[in-house]
Amino acid sequence: MPIASVNPVTGETVRTFEPHELNQIDEMLTRAQAAYLGWRKRPLAERAAVVARAGEVLGKRREELADLMTLEMGKLRGAALAEVDKCATGCKHYAEHGARYLADEPVETDAERSLIRYQPIGPVLAVMPWNFPFWQVFRFAAPALVAGNVGLLKHASSVPQCALAIESVFKDAGAPPGVFQTLLIEASRVKNLLADGRVAAATLTGSEGAGRSLAEHAGRHIKKVVLELGGSDPFLVLPSAGLEETVKVAVSARVQNAGQSCIAAKRFLVHEKIADRFEELFVSQMSALRVGDPSREDTELGPLSSEQLLQDVDAQVRRSIEMGAKLLTGGKRLPGPGAYYAPTVLGEPPRGSPARDEEVFGPVASLLRFRTLDEGIALANEVRFGLGSAAFTNDRAEQERLCNELEAGQVFINGMVKSDPRLPFGGVKSSGFGRELSVHGIREFTNVKTVWIGKNLGGTATQVAGRRADLVE
Ligand code: NAP
Repeated sequence: MPIASVNPVTGETVRTFEPHELNQIDEMLTRAQAAYLGWRKRPLAERAAVVARAGEVLGKRREELADLMTLEMGKLRGAALAEVDKCATGCKHYAEHGARYLADEPVETDAERSLIRYQPIGPVLAVMPWNFPFWQVFRFAAPALVAGNVGLLKHASSVPQCALAIESVFKDAGAPPGVFQTLLIEASRVKNLLADGRVAAATLTGSEGAGRSLAEHAGRHIKKVVLELGGSDPFLVLPSAGLEETVKVAVSARVQNAGQSCIAAKRFLVHEKIADRFEELFVSQMSALRVGDPSREDTELGPLSSEQLLQDVDAQVRRSIEMGAKLLTGGKRLPGPGAYYAPTVLGEPPRGSPARDEEVFGPVASLLRFRTLDEGIALANEVRFGLGSAAFTNDRAEQERLCNELEAGQVFINGMVKSDPRLPFGGVKSSGFGRELSVHGIREFTNVKTVWIGKNLGGTATQVAGRRADLVE
C-alpha cells in the first residue's frame, strides 16, 4: 500500500511519501533504545510533565491537526476537533494519575519488606489504524511514555501527515529525541521489527487479520502484545426503554465516524413488542441524515475513508441482500465524486451473511427481532467478536442480567459505547486481548516486578556503610 494522503472527498492524491530506508529504520531503532535508557531513569514526574505539555501543544494546534484528519480520512470537522481535545484529556489524565497508577504496592509476606513495582520494559511498537488517527495513538502513547517506555509508531499508510504531526507534537512538548518516533513503513516490515532485539513489545489496533499476523510474529520472539481488533457490537432494545430517545442514540451509535468505528453499534436487536415502531423511526432518521462535505458544519455523515473501503462495504451489503436480508433503506453509493455511501438499514440478515456475521465498517445497520431476553442475549453473543455492547432497558433486573451475560469487554446500559481514559478499553474473543486506558492500560507495558527483601544476614545496615559494591576507594 503506498504511503500517501488521498482526499476521500475528491479521490485526489494530495501527497505521497517515500517509505523509510532500512538504514534509516536501523538508526531510529538505535535512537529509541538509547532514548529509553535515559527516559526510564528520569523521575516519573518529569515524564508526566512532558506528556502534560503534549496535551497543551494539542490544544494550541487543534485546528491544524483537525484539518489533517479531515483531509486524510474524511472525518467531520467537528468530530476531528473533538478528537484532538480528547487526546489532550488523555494526556492530562495520565500526567495527573500516572504516579498513583504505578506506585509501589506493599504486600505483607514473610519478607522484611515485599512489594509490587511497575517498571518500564523498553521501546514499544504501535501499529495503528486510520479511523481515529490521533486518539488511537495518544491512548497508547500517553500512558506508555509516563510509564517510562518509548514509542515507535507505524501508522496506517493512509494517514502519514497525521503520523508525522503526532511525532512533532511530542517534539514540541520537549520529549527527548527518540522518545516518540514515527516510522514511515509498509505493513510487511512489521515482522522484522518484531524480530529486532531493540523492540520490546507491540500493540496493534486494527483488523483481525493484522492482529493475527502481528501476534504470530511477536509470539515467535516471545514479545508481549496488546490487540485491539474489530467488533460487531450489539445494541439491544427492551420494551421498557424510552423509545424515541433510544432511536436517536441508535442512529449516532451507528453513523459515528461514518460508521467506521470498532465500537459503533452494528447489530440492532429489538424486542418484538416495540420492533415495528423502532424500525419505522430508525429507518426514517437514518435516511434523513445530511450526507456531504465533512468540512461543512451541518454535515451529519461524511465519506468513507477510501474508495476501497466503499467497495468492500457495498460488496458486504449486496451479498447480505442476495442471501435474504431485506433492504429497508440505502444500499448503494451516492452519485458524484467521493467515497459516499448511503446510510443503510438491512432487516433480518440471515446467519452466514456478512451483515450478520462480519464487521461492516460503514454506515450500515442490521436490524433483528427477538422474543425473550434469553433470545436477545443469545443473538448479541452469536458473533465471534466481543468488543463493546449496549443495551437499553429501564428494568433493573434486566440491566443486571445484561451486564453479566453479554460477552464483551464493555457493557453500556442506556448509553452508547465510548472510550474514557478513566475506564479500561478492550475486547474479548476475536476482538483481541489486553486493555488500554485507566490503570489497566498503563500497566500493560510494564514489568510487574515482585520485590522481596529479607532481613540483613550477618551484619546491620550501619555496618554496611562504606562497603558498597560500587564505592570507589
Ligand atoms: P488494518 O488494515 O488492520 O490496519 C491497521 C494497521 O495495521 C495499519 O497500520 C496497517 O498498515 C497495519 N497492518 C495491516 N496488515 C498488517 C499485517 N499483516 N501486519 C502488521 N501490520 C499490519 O485495519 P484498518 O482497516 O486500518 O482499521 C479498521 C479495523 O480496525 C477494523 O477492523 C476496526 O474494527 C479495527 N479497530 C479496532 C479498534 C479497537 O480499539 N478495538 C479501534 C479502531 C479500529 P497499512 O495501513 O500500511 O496496511
